Amino acid sequence: ALAGAASPALLAIEAAGGPVLPTVPGLPDALYAHDGQITKAPVRAMTLAALAPRPDALLWDVGAGSGSISVEFCRAGGRAIAIETRADRQPHITANAHRFGVQERLRLVAGHAPQALQDLPTPDVVFVGGGLDEAVFEAVWARLKPGGRLVANSVTLQTEALLTQLYARHGGELLRLELARAAPLGRLHGWRPARPLVQWSVQR
Ligand code: SAH
Repeated sequence: ALAGAASPALLAIEAAGGPVLPTVPGLPDALYAHDGQITKAPVRAMTLAALAPRPDALLWDVGAGSGSISVEFCRAGGRAIAIETRADRQPHITANAHRFGVQERLRLVAGHAPQALQDLPTPDVVFVGGGLDEAVFEAVWARLKPGGRLVANSVTLQTEALLTQLYARHGGELLRLELARAAPLGRLHGWRPARPLVQWSVQR
């Protein structure tokens, strides 16, 4: 396989009648090691489409959480540096890299952006899934190659306000995703809405 093979543990899940492993992004959340803080599969699929991975492109995944975005970028043929500040989440990133067989392509940087970004190799694509502020934006924008892409997701009003300003300044595309999932409601089912998510994508 181009970007590594799934681990025996994952193949066993598949063989036992569990979820199959698709070649495209949006893998089931349950296949990842995480603590609840993970970009959910449908949003992850849309985010990977916005990141537009190309063979051997280098991604900075800023605020990587479980590393799911990095893993799927690597499975699509890219390489990733996952930057995560929380010590309790960093092991999830390493575990997921091995689980999905992309440990040769995915590097964990344990640290806090923007400081942690300073000495990293120049990225082709940057995703900010957490911790976006003016300082992080400036650090990322200064390092991005011409033609490089930046995608940022937000579920807070404060980050949304910043994304709106950045969109006015730099253009690109602003999306609002509103998803709902059917869930039990008494003996019947109803829609359980997720928080609205705002996504800004821009090419340098
Ligand atoms: N896309 C991830 C979820 C990201 S949640 C996934 O699919 O798993 C956002 C993460 O950003 C959190 O884990 C948080 O600890 C991290 N974070 C927030 N601010 C940060 C900063 N300045 N530098 C590094 N990580 C940061």
